[in-house]
Amino acid sequence: MRIARLALALIPFLACDRGREPGQPPAAAESVAPSDVTPSANEPPPPAEPPAPPPVPGGGPDPLTLDGSYSTSIGSPNEGSLEGGVPLPLTGPGYRFTPRKKVERRHGTVELVAALVRAASAVHDKLPGSTLTFGDISMPEGGVIAGHGSHRAGRDADVMFYLLDAHDQPAEGIAVPLDPKGEGTDYNDLADPSDDVPLHIDVPRTWAFVEALLGDETVQIQQIYVVEHIRALLLSYGKEHGASTAILARFGDVTCQPRFPHDDHMHIRVFCSAQDIAKGCNDVAPIYPWQRKLLAAAGVKPVAPPKRTKPRPKLTSVEEARAKAGPMDRAVVEFLDRRAVWAKPAHPGRRWCK
Ligand SMILES: [Zn+2]
Repeated sequence: MRIARLALALIPFLACDRGREPGQPPAAAESVAPSDVTPSANEPPPPAEPPAPPPVPGGGPDPLTLDGSYSTSIGSPNEGSLEGGVPLPLTGPGYRFTPRKKVERRHGTVELVAALVRAASAVHDKLPGSTLTFGDISMPEGGVIAGHGSHRAGRDADVMFYLLDAHDQPAEGIAVPLDPKGEGTDYNDLADPSDDVPLHIDVPRTWAFVEALLGDETVQIQQIYVVEHIRALLLSYGKEHGASTAILARFGDVTCQPRFPHDDHMHIRVFCSAQDIAKGCNDVAPIYPWQRKLLAAAGVKPVAPPKRTKPRPKLTSVEEARAKAGPMDRAVVEFLDRRAVWAKPAHPGRRWCK
């Protein structure tokens, strides 16, 4: 139907154009004598339809075109669910969803997904040449997602670090634990040292991503879970490269190392939007004074979740994962021994990190 209408709309123009000499402009409408014009040609062509938007990779709506009211995060990140969840497009400017995960694990609130897309795109504009890899967000309707205690309400996202190879060239974003220098190894077969690939964090691009995310006023970042030494690398890069004091302070507030060290990716959590709070979205601690102020201006207060009814899901510890991993060559064992030092509950002395 659409094609037929479009073809009809083109006919008057093509008819005028017939017989035109090369290099001549198309015949103007006034050169056609009124007597030559059939009654149907006199009718105005039907209005042209706007061109269809390009298809979104992986299907679903383009998150950048949606209003926040499209989605609702219900309950808390640990026990909640998601209504109207929007899938992160599988690829976009400067990013992809990890090909290592099932595609249904990429649903979030509009606010979160759109902010991730915008931040990746900002890095792509500023420092082109690399592709950010996003990991798990939530299931289409939230709820339980294998391997996580949270990620249940569309407000959590795992984000790989931008990585560089031994020649400082952008490398694929995979979950490789990074040591205090920001260096790690893709061991591939853990028992075979000949296939090991050294990698290190791309600090400028990773900082550019968090900087864009924290500067996005459409979403409020509650936490960025990241190992202490990568936090320190990013913070000092930001300080040395002219980041605003507001962004640096915000980064300092929202970053912390949780029990599982997050040395191979960052975990981003966003606050309930004011709209979603009214529909049952719950925020867990910490809730910063600036967030309370922002919500107060919108006429709402944060709502804590009801007391947990189900036991915390049992997650694999670093030690258990290590025990399960099978035979390893000496370099892997050495790395994991070093890792035990930073894979500890962190870090006294900071205000907001539990
Ligand atoms: Zn996570």
